[in-house]
Amino acid sequence: MDRILVIGATGFMGQFVTNEILNLGRPTFLLLRPGSITPSKAAIVKSFQDKGATLIHGVINDKEIMEKILKEYNIDIVVSLVGGANLLDQLALVEAIKSVKTIKRFLPSEFGHDVERANPVEPGLSMYKEKRLIRRMTEESGIPYTYICCNSIASWPYYDNCHPTNVPPPLDHFHIYGDGNIKAYFVDGNDIGKFTMKAIDDIRTLNKIVHFRPSNNCYSINELASLWEKKIGRTIPRVTISEDDLLAAAAENRIPESMVASFTHDIFIKGCQVNFNTDGPKDVEISTLYPDEKFRSLEDCFEDFLPMVHK
Ligand code: NDP
Repeated sequence: MDRILVIGATGFMGQFVTNEILNLGRPTFLLLRPGSITPSKAAIVKSFQDKGATLIHGVINDKEIMEKILKEYNIDIVVSLVGGANLLDQLALVEAIKSVKTIKRFLPSEFGHDVERANPVEPGLSMYKEKRLIRRMTEESGIPYTYICCNSIASWPYYDNCHPTNVPPPLDHFHIYGDGNIKAYFVDGNDIGKFTMKAIDDIRTLNKIVHFRPSNNCYSINELASLWEKKIGRTIPRVTISEDDLLAAAAENRIPESMVASFTHDIFIKGCQVNFNTDGPKDVEISTLYPDEKFRSLEDCFEDFLPMVHK
């Protein structure tokens, strides 16, 4: 079985992917940054260790260390889930992967939009430029890759929040972006892990962009609001956040809130998840690869928030 190195396992997205790898019983190695382990992260790491993960201490932005690790642990597949602030740390990692020549698949830290189709305003654009740079380096280095474009995590898309899955949808008023009719795809975190693992060594995803577009989870913000109202059994006032409001929040350049505002503008005003076809030579849509596998519905995902609001 291929040996998988995960970078960023303690992060928000990293936990979903790591859980799935370990549930599948794949030989799993986690790269941890020395000195950054908080008590909550220590508990996460311990749970991964209990499920069989091997811990390796190191940082990706050191080419020599990474080369040594990749060789010493005979790594076959590298999955990077470093956060937005550390994307360029992957430059040294790509150099190390290129140098060892034995990596069968590299998944750089993408896990969002197709950064070459989407074109948000700043400060989101700067993050996409970094992701694009990692793509170019990977391709020019001849490294086998897969780009996971899983679209939005299933939760209420607050425009001023960063990692909103643990925050329930609103109870006082909804913010509706623009006319509220532009659609987006919402994917349960565990499904992001599950389908990433399906794609990770599938020959059909080699050197491809894998789009997550589950048809049952394509909602506009108006529809999302109605879904939540149905769950809680009452209606909530709707307040419009205009395109100009979102652009103003982005222009404030507060990181990460302004980034989220620029992505919100891109998703719900410009339609960056739905305004292109996935029929290019490098595109694959995950549901067409695994037609018998169901995505968890957004209705179900929103069910998880009910205990939080009834506390
Ligand atoms: P987090 O900030 O939550 O976690 C980042 C992880 O990377 C941490 O485990 C961190 O370790 C580790 N890390 C960072 N730098 C290094 C380094 N130099 N060497 C080793 N480890 C390092 O990231 P997110 O989960 O928010 O983001 C991951 C990806 O997912 C990004 O590409 C982001 O854009 C995307 N994303 C997509 C979302 C969506 O809705 N589709 C939502 C959120 C993110 P440490 O514990 O030491 O800090």
